[in-house]
Amino acid sequence: MQISEKKVVTLTYELYVIGEEDEFEIVEVAGEDNPMVFLFGHSGLPVDFEKNLEGLKEEDDFDFILEPQAGFGEFSEEDIADFPMDMFKIEEGEVPADLLEIGNFIPFTNDDGSQITGRVYEVLADTVRIDFNHPLAGKSLKFEGDILNVREATQDELDHGHVHGEGGVQHD
Ligand SMILES: [Zn+2]
Repeated sequence: MQISEKKVVTLTYELYVIGEEDEFEIVEVAGEDNPMVFLFGHSGLPVDFEKNLEGLKEEDDFDFILEPQAGFGEFSEEDIADFPMDMFKIEEGEVPADLLEIGNFIPFTNDDGSQITGRVYEVLADTVRIDFNHPLAGKSLKFEGDILNVREATQDELDHGHVHGEGGVQHD
């Protein structure tokens, strides 16, 4: 059975980012003991990830590269926002030690109350610059893995837009 619409796919993968000197750095592994199970079209990964899998079948392997625009998008300077240093003085009027280390993840609340995570990008005298790009934005990604299983989705799974049973959502 080939991977296409209305199929449930179980696969393993290793995700690497490609560094500036073409070296591979591993960022994520879904191995045989914790494979990824998803309804085709609903993986939560970039659309092009799924496009590269279309037509593969059980026991096939894959190995492909997504350029940034096909992955999590280009890195955008517009997604870097400046905040006053005073905002981070949350411990007796002081900025907690280590809070503003470059690369630290900090939770923020949007105007609509939703949570988003930003990363400390740059620390100036009175200003902290926070990066809200996806952590993998601007990166070339390499995916490698094996297709373990392909099956027809049930009508319930199609209606819900996710997988039921092993590796999927468990309903009461
Ligand atoms: Zn469901």
